[in-house]
Amino acid sequence: MKAAVYDGTKIAIKNVPDPKIKKTQALVRVKMVGICGTDLAILSGDLPTPTPIILGHEFVGEVVKIGKQVDPSWLNRRVTSEINSNIDFNCYYCKQGLFTQCRSRKAIGIDIDGALAEYIAIESYLLHEIPDSISYSDATFIEPLAAAYQTFEMMPIDKDDKIIAVFGIGKLGSLITQVALSKGLILIVIDSSDKKLNLAKEFGAQHLINRLTCKDVPNEIKNITKGLGADIVIDTTGNPDALMEIIASCRTRGKIHAKSTHGLGAPINLTELVVRELTLYSSRCGPFEKAIVGLSSGSIEVKQLISKKFKLDEINKAFDSYKNNRDHIKTIVQI
Ligand SMILES: [Zn+2]
Repeated sequence: MKAAVYDGTKIAIKNVPDPKIKKTQALVRVKMVGICGTDLAILSGDLPTPTPIILGHEFVGEVVKIGKQVDPSWLNRRVTSEINSNIDFNCYYCKQGLFTQCRSRKAIGIDIDGALAEYIAIESYLLHEIPDSISYSDATFIEPLAAAYQTFEMMPIDKDDKIIAVFGIGKLGSLITQVALSKGLILIVIDSSDKKLNLAKEFGAQHLINRLTCKDVPNEIKNITKGLGADIVIDTTGNPDALMEIIASCRTRGKIHAKSTHGLGAPINLTELVVRELTLYSSRCGPFEKAIVGLSSGSIEVKQLISKKFKLDEINKAFDSYKNNRDHIKTIVQI
C-alpha cells in the first residue's frame, strides 16, 4: 500500500506492505486524515519519534476486515479511532479507568505507525462509529474536539470564572472557543490572523486581539477585565514564548491551561505563579462520545474550519501549506 513515511529527516510517499491484523484488530481503509500541530512538531524534530514511522492520528475510514475476536458488526462501518493503543487494561492507571494514561500505551502516528496510508490496523476497542449525520470531513474533527472537551473535564469552572482568554485559535483553539461559549463564558481570543479572529467572532467571541497589531497583549486583556486579567487562560499556540504572556494575562488565583504538544521547553516565572497563587492545568485526549454528540447535534460547527484538502501524493504540499499559511486552520489529506 501507499503510505507517507517519515524517516527522521523528511516525509515521503513509499510503497510498504499492507498491515496484517491481529485477532483483536480491525483493518480500516483510511478515507481522510487531519494534519495537526503535533505532526509539524515531529517533522521539525522538536517532538522525537521512532523512525521510520507513518504519521497521522486524526483519521476516519471504513472497516474492511476484522480479526477473529472482533465483533463482526464492525464490518463495513464508518469509523474513527482513539489514538492511545497497546493498552494493557491492567496497570495502575487502567485500574482507575484512565486508559489514555496506560503505562504501556503507544500513540498512533506518534509512537507507532499511523493513518497517512491506505490502510491501518486498529485495536477494535479504540474504534468509534461515525453516525451518518457526520460527513467524513467533519468526522476528522472528532479527535481534536474530544481534546477540546477534555479541557473542561480536567478543569472545573467555578462561579467566579466568567472570562476566558484563548491564545491561538487554530483548529484546537477554535474548538475550545465553541465549547467555552456553550458553557456561557465570555471569550477573549488572541491570534495573529484576522481571518481566524473574525471566524471566532462569528462563533460568538466577544473580544478579539490581533497580536501583530497589539503592542501589549496582557495589558489589553487587563483593559477588558477591569485590570484583573482573565479568570482562565488557555494556551494552544505551540509557542513557548507565549507562556510568559499567558501567565501575565491571568488574574490572581486564576487558571492556566496548557494544550500544546510542541515538544519544546518553555520559560515560566515560577515566582509569579507562586505569589499570585495561579493554578496550572493541562489535558489532552478526551471523550469521543461527547465529541460525536457535539458534532451530530450541530452545537459545534467545523465546516468553516476546513482550509484545504490534499491528496496523499501531495503530502509535502499539505504540510507546507499548513505550516506557511497563518490563516490555515485545518488541512485534510484525502487517501
Ligand atoms: Zn494500563
